[in-house]
Amino acid sequence: MTPLAQVLAARIRAHGPMSLADYMADCLLHPAHGYYTTQNPFGSGGDFITAPEISQMFGELLGLSLAQAWIDQGAPDPFTLAELGPGRGTLMADILRATKALAGFHAAMRVVLVEASPRLRGIQAQALRDYQPAWADSVQDLPRHPLFLVANEFFDALPIRQFQRAGLGWRERLVGLSGEALAFGLGPVVPIEALTERLADTVDGDVVELCPQAPAIMAEIAARMADKGAALIIDYGGWRSLGDTFQAVLAHQPVDPFAAPGQADLTAHVDFAALAASAYPAAHGYTTQGAFLSALGIAQRSARLAQNLSGTALQSHLAATQRLTAPAEMGTLFKVLALHPAHHPAPPGSV
Ligand code: SAH
Repeated sequence: MTPLAQVLAARIRAHGPMSLADYMADCLLHPAHGYYTTQNPFGSGGDFITAPEISQMFGELLGLSLAQAWIDQGAPDPFTLAELGPGRGTLMADILRATKALAGFHAAMRVVLVEASPRLRGIQAQALRDYQPAWADSVQDLPRHPLFLVANEFFDALPIRQFQRAGLGWRERLVGLSGEALAFGLGPVVPIEALTERLADTVDGDVVELCPQAPAIMAEIAARMADKGAALIIDYGGWRSLGDTFQAVLAHQPVDPFAAPGQADLTAHVDFAALAASAYPAAHGYTTQGAFLSALGIAQRSARLAQNLSGTALQSHLAATQRLTAPAEMGTLFKVLALHPAHHPAPPGSV
C-alpha cells in the first residue's frame, strides 16, 4: 500500500466512500503524497510524453496561431500570455522563441503560468528564466487584461465525477473499501440536475462524467476575452463524451487506478462540448490536433527542420511529425478547442 492509500483508507473508514473527484484530487495534488507534487511525470524516463515534449514544432505552431490572433485584434498592449498546467515549461518556451521576432509582442505580453505544483513551478522558473513569468494559483487570479491562453493536457488532469444511469436518475460511482483494498461502489439513485440533458442520449447502465471545476475555469477565461483574446485548449477527448474514460498510467503502461495512488498519473477524457458550453459568450472552433497542425503548416516546418538533420536525429524528427499528426497516433484522438470573441476571427488553424 502506498502512503496515500493508507491515508485514504483511514478517511473512508471514518467518513464513508468518497467521490472519484475527491480521490483524483488527492492522488494528483496531495501536498505530501500527490503525483504532481512528488513525481517526475514527463518524458521517456517518466510516465507519459506530451506533444510539446515530442517536438518543438507543436509550441512553435501554437505560438504563431496565437500571435496571428493578437495581430488580427489590433495588437493589444498590455496583454496576458497565460498557460494552464505548463509541466516542464517546454510549450511556453517554444511559443516564446517562435514569437521573438514579432514586433511588439514580447514588449506587450505578461507571461503568467497557472500551476498547482510547487515542484513544477521550480522547473518552469528554470526553463523560462529569460522571460520573468509570474505564477497564479487559478484562472481567477489572472490579470484583467486581454487574455491569450494555451492549455495542453491540463483539463484531463482535473478531477471528474462519474455517474451511472439508473432509470431517470443516476448512481454515483464512489471510491470505497473492499476488505482493505480501495474499490468502486455505487451510491443511491438520485436526480442530477447537471445531467438532465444527458437523459436524451444515454440508456440504463451508461456512465457519464462531469468535471466539476471546468465550468468556472471556462467562464473565467471567457470573461477575460470578452473584447479581445484567444484560447487554444488541446487534449484527448471528444464532443459530449460518453462512457468510463478514467485511466491510470505508470511508466507508460496502463495500471489499475487504485493500485498505486499518488504514484500513477490519473486522467479522464475531456468533454469539449461541456467546455464550450461554459465559455459563453466566446465563439469557438473545434478540430482535431492533426487537422490543426496541418492547417498551420507542420509539413512545411517539418521539411525545413529536416534539412539540417541526418541519421537517427532525422528519423526521430520524422517520427515525431507523424506522432503529432497521424490519425493512428495523436492526430485524431487529440482535439483543439479554440475560443475567441465572436467579433474577431478564429485563431488560424482552428476552424
Ligand atoms: N502542459 C504540459 C503538462 C501537462 S501535465 C505538457 O503538455 O507537457 C498537467 C499539468 O497541469 C502539470 O503541470 C500539473 O501540475 C498541472 N495541474 C494539474 N492540476 C492542476 C490544477 N488544478 N491547477 C493548476 N495546475 C494543475
